[in-house]
Amino acid sequence: MPMFGRKRVLEPELAHAEVQPLPQPPQARPNGLRSMADHRDYLLSCIEELPPFRQQIMDALDLSLCEDIFAGISLPGFDNSAMDGYAVHWEDVAGASTEHPVRLPVVGEVAAGQSATHRLSPGTAMKIMTGAPMPDGANSVVPYEGTDRGASDVAVYVSVVSGQHVRRRGEDVEQGQQVLSSGDLLGARSIGLVAAIGLDTVLVRPRPRVVVVSTGSELVEPGLQLNSADQIYDSNSYMLAAAAKSAGAQVFRIGAVTDDPEEVKQIISDQLVRADLILTSGGVSQGDYDVVKAVMPELGVTDFAQVAMQPGKPQGFGLIGDDRTPMIMLPGNPVSAFVSFEAFARPVIRKLMGTTPYSRTAMRCTTTQEIRSFPGRIQMARGIVSFGDTGTRQVELAGGHGSHLLGDLARANALLVLGEDTEFVAAGDEVDVWLLGDEQ
Ligand code: AMP
Ligand code: MG
Repeated sequence: MPMFGRKRVLEPELAHAEVQPLPQPPQARPNGLRSMADHRDYLLSCIEELPPFRQQIMDALDLSLCEDIFAGISLPGFDNSAMDGYAVHWEDVAGASTEHPVRLPVVGEVAAGQSATHRLSPGTAMKIMTGAPMPDGANSVVPYEGTDRGASDVAVYVSVVSGQHVRRRGEDVEQGQQVLSSGDLLGARSIGLVAAIGLDTVLVRPRPRVVVVSTGSELVEPGLQLNSADQIYDSNSYMLAAAAKSAGAQVFRIGAVTDDPEEVKQIISDQLVRADLILTSGGVSQGDYDVVKAVMPELGVTDFAQVAMQPGKPQGFGLIGDDRTPMIMLPGNPVSAFVSFEAFARPVIRKLMGTTPYSRTAMRCTTTQEIRSFPGRIQMARGIVSFGDTGTRQVELAGGHGSHLLGDLARANALLVLGEDTEFVAAGDEVDVWLLGDEQ
């Protein structure tokens, strides 16, 4: 697929039109914070699903179908044998048994991919392989196991009823029948079905092209040497790229840029041409070097908010450049970046590719320990979900609150979603949990 093939062409008169502002952001709470759900819904309201593309069926795995699909042929396409054996007239072998076999002359043989050269006359049998078309005149198949496997004539030891061991034309799918609907997610089985009815392409929403950039002058690419005590490896661009890929995106990981405003602007501008979404980490809090927050308003319309969640309070969003490419600016602490990805970027990626539900579905889980939380903010604590002795799902915390605790995050397999009103959860209480499977 062409990398640059999906850009809208600006009408010349629109190119100089006034910059359209972002829609009105949601009202913050009296404490100055925006609710997590409001922020997610706001981002979703600012983006549109990507236009559908016709793709090869192998490339359509896990994508959302944008057309109803009707079978152009029947499945099976013709009456055929379900067994290796002999095609017969069932009436000829009606009384057959081991004691009283019925002996029939074998008048030919049909393999899969062949057709019988002539009609089967009453009182004869034709050798037939699984999947081979039934000869005209034959109405049943006696499997090998019910015969002596004779070559020129065959002794039949079992009776069969009319149609036995025959797969009927159209018994699975009728020609003209609708087999898939617009909005269906294409898994392996649907792709098999599409191939079986002879289609090699389908109309689907494409994988969003997500560009991942991390910012921070302290960042060093893994594999290189750390040169001073203040340097750290860039984990976020890898983690976010992997998370975006797991969510279904086609990812371009750019890696780290320094906190130099010109460099940040240059990289983002360069990447706009191939991005359906840009994800950045770092530089959106209140620090002196929060470069992303400082420069992005020069490249597009932006919204920086304090969201009522922990971790992940500082959040940035923008529609950048002439094409108003969506950009989600995540905080730099690795756990904040990951939790914010789950809360906001993953739903946006799923909306772009038309996969519902956009958000993770919360499930109830019993805690094994008491947990304290902050009132006024949703706490997204890292947890480990397991099955208890009684088979019920239970969750324990994976480490502490710190948003730098990447080791604990990696051990976790779930996020606990502790509501804004929750201050304390007792052991044995139920809490909401997002399971972090890598499946979509
Ligand atoms: P920031 O949001 O840019 O102020 O970053 C907050 C914290 O997260 C700082 O301690 C950074 O060193 C750390 N951090 C920022 N970006 C990354 C990254 N790409 N990988 C690992 N840690 C990061
Ligand atoms: Mg930084």
